Amino acid sequence: MISQQLLGWYALNKRILPWRETKDPYKIWISEIMLQQTQVATVVPYYKRWMASFPTIEILARANYNDVLKHWEGLGYYSRCKNIHLTAQSLNGSLPNTFNELIKLPGIGEYTAKTILAIAYNQQEVGVDTNLERVGFRLLGLKKKSKFNNNRVKKFLEKIQDKSKPGDFNQALMDLGSSFCQAKAVHCEPCPITDGCKATLNDNPLKYPEIKKGKPIPTVNVAVCIISHNKKLLVMQRPKDKMLGGLWEFPGGKIENGELKEVAVIREIKEETNLKIKDPKYIGEVRHQYSHFKVSISLFYYIIDDIRSIKIKENYLWTTIKGLDKLALPKANYKMLQIFNKAK
Ligand code: SF4
Repeated sequence: MISQQLLGWYALNKRILPWRETKDPYKIWISEIMLQQTQVATVVPYYKRWMASFPTIEILARANYNDVLKHWEGLGYYSRCKNIHLTAQSLNGSLPNTFNELIKLPGIGEYTAKTILAIAYNQQEVGVDTNLERVGFRLLGLKKKSKFNNNRVKKFLEKIQDKSKPGDFNQALMDLGSSFCQAKAVHCEPCPITDGCKATLNDNPLKYPEIKKGKPIPTVNVAVCIISHNKKLLVMQRPKDKMLGGLWEFPGGKIENGELKEVAVIREIKEETNLKIKDPKYIGEVRHQYSHFKVSISLFYYIIDDIRSIKIKENYLWTTIKGLDKLALPKANYKMLQIFNKAK
């Protein structure tokens, strides 16, 4: 009953999205990874650019990683991009069609594996992400988040899934969770499954499930220097296995407790590059937020004449500002460039 009402509503109201025009497992996989922690509207242009450049797994597998990363630049959670490329290189041109094989691939967890199987291979699986989980908790009238209740929701959704249209069932719940049944707003009257929903019958649905208060987000103070030599700027590539892996950035690092930013920047540049800088010019402050912390970046500028002592463990480049267009940079570095362009 719930399933039929849901699918009837979905047939008339489903969002028109580029990855819904295909059943190609590769395209479903890429869209699902891009959609993790990211809004649909943000993903659409990224997905289109990606598919224009890398329409098949083989083409993606052969592509240079810097180019692949440039297509991901700004989407965040860069390990997703690294895992996609690694997976493409490990495959023989096609994505497997069993849960056990999919789950072994880098970056593919239970949710993604089941969603690919349901949408691309029409298998009876329910990929439960936060949207589906929230709808399930509300349908069952469950408040407390626990492993036991999470499992009840999964089993319940598997039980009510329409066996002939597993992909549509998953996508209908996704659409419902991002329209009528959001975490902080519900519209139960027009919701197609209001009759079967315990949360709306019992109480205020927004109380289902209970939301734990998050920890306050700490701020990390950082000093960064844009170093210029012969009208070129120094950028360094972050190690692939670290946060923002593979992206290019201006050198710098954490300001120690009690340390002056002017002292920190000289120390950090010496430690990272072996270059000695003296009295760099302070040009401004950049603030940026990541998922678990904020950074406050004190930005400096320095023109260096002698670079013979340079010694850097990771890849580095001297590049013109125009040359930066070809590299993938973290968002905070674009904010730095805006300050730099005004200050220089
Ligand atoms: S009736 Fe309300 S709470 Fe229940 S699924 Fe629909 S929108 Fe969500």
